[in-house]
Amino acid sequence: MGAKFIFIIGGVLSGLGKGIVTSSIGKLLQSYGYKVTAVKIDPYINIDAGTMRPTEHGEVWVTEDGGEIDQDLGNYERFLNKNLPKRNNITTGQIYLSVINRERALGYNGKNAEVIPDIINEIKDRIRAVEEDNDFVLVEIGGTTGDIQNEVFLYAARELGREIPSIYLLVTYLPFLKNVGELKTKPTQQAAALLRATGIVPDFIITRSDRRLDDPRKEKISKQCFIDKGNVIEDPDCETVYEVPLVFKDQKFGRKILSKFGLEPKEVDLQKWKDLVDNMKGADKVVKIGVVGKYVSYGNSEHKDVYISVLEAIKHAAANLKVKPIIEQIQSTKIEDEGIDILRKYDGIIVPGGFGKSGTEGIIKTIKFCRENNIPFLGLCYGMQMAVIEFARDVCGMDGANTTENDPNTPYPVIDFMPEQKELIKLKQYGATMRLGAYPAVLKEGTKVRELYGEEFVSERHRHRYEVNPEYIEQLEKCGLIFSGTSPDKTLMEFLELPDKRFFVATQAHPEFHSRFESPSPLFKGFVKSCLQMPQQKVL
Ligand code: GLN
Repeated sequence: MGAKFIFIIGGVLSGLGKGIVTSSIGKLLQSYGYKVTAVKIDPYINIDAGTMRPTEHGEVWVTEDGGEIDQDLGNYERFLNKNLPKRNNITTGQIYLSVINRERALGYNGKNAEVIPDIINEIKDRIRAVEEDNDFVLVEIGGTTGDIQNEVFLYAARELGREIPSIYLLVTYLPFLKNVGELKTKPTQQAAALLRATGIVPDFIITRSDRRLDDPRKEKISKQCFIDKGNVIEDPDCETVYEVPLVFKDQKFGRKILSKFGLEPKEVDLQKWKDLVDNMKGADKVVKIGVVGKYVSYGNSEHKDVYISVLEAIKHAAANLKVKPIIEQIQSTKIEDEGIDILRKYDGIIVPGGFGKSGTEGIIKTIKFCRENNIPFLGLCYGMQMAVIEFARDVCGMDGANTTENDPNTPYPVIDFMPEQKELIKLKQYGATMRLGAYPAVLKEGTKVRELYGEEFVSERHRHRYEVNPEYIEQLEKCGLIFSGTSPDKTLMEFLELPDKRFFVATQAHPEFHSRFESPSPLFKGFVKSCLQMPQQKVL
């Protein structure tokens, strides 16, 4: 039996949380005993998200096999608790590139290559390529109905619906108009009409809104959009996104989807998920965590998704420990302008990844503050590189120590290019050329990280060009820094720690990419636990 396909399409506006809807449906179907995978389609020309500015695009998600992907794949992994490969992200650029490459190689045998059927066929082939032994493939089409960019994808989705068992879901937004005191359905009606113009009549409409939907509004959507009232599914704002599968379950959404395909639940298994949500909502202790990074501010607003995997990893660890995390993001230049005192209120500090010089002196000050005041500190990728620089400067007396990324003439290049990277950069080959994807590490006996992971061999995902310079390892270790995990050949420093501190751990990897709601990252769990031991600990 082949897989069944569920297309998730957005209406009215972007940023509605289609990724969470997709992930939540996936979780529900999984809980009924079915095998699920998910695909994200991004209608941009870029081959992947790797060359995009973090402030522009939000976080770049890294897959096990080294893909630099739209962050929605992160949501899918966090909810479905499984690895998804990079081919589960399809972009317009990938589609056109392969059609053009085939044309250049005479792959169309002298015929002209056309949008219909060649681009459409390429899209269909790529969607079907992820099927494997899954029962369901969820296909989230980025953008909004009416966008020129996603028309070809909707066309391909409609064709696939005639060839394989498929249903279509439209996720829309219902604004609450204060002056009339009600949720308005007109934008949803118009989005459904735009979708029908592409030949697709949605099987379900999922209504995002800041409150519950009442019966008259459901009735209206049902009538105007030609779907059963029971297939209008509410998706009101929740305290946590992890509640959405439960909200859908209450509306029997999973079972309704199954019955569209003539299926029944094989089992029902959502208890662990529910317990974790209960933990989150019923936590009786609080930890206050500061995330000090380079990309927090964006114009007048604060970025919500530039460090999303880090924020979610904190929440996973906290839910597991039945603690409520209050997380604040702090732009690192603010430390340079306003001083370190603004960090005194936190039980622990995380420094996430980043690129380039701006704000790094604020980060280095932050790490010094944590080290000197025994504040729990977790450094991730750039965060580890900055911790090495701080330690070299302040403890080993290497004045002006730096990474060659920010100061090519530093007297102490404690962080430096990997040799093969130099060549790539000379050739301006920036796309998909970092050290990417999962790499193994060996953890030293008797260290904090070994205790936390409980294993000698671990694997985490990477995305960087620079490394701890091997020429300085001995000197740094003499001063008391412990490289507690290395690559199996011992040439690359993957983890470091300071043994006499409450929690001072950093890694060259991005453990946040392995953290899932049902299986948190050991490093984040250890970090949150040590934040709980801070003297000012608050009880709710
Ligand atoms: N800029 C650093 C490097 O390329 C760190 C990258 C990151 O934090 N992901 O090595």
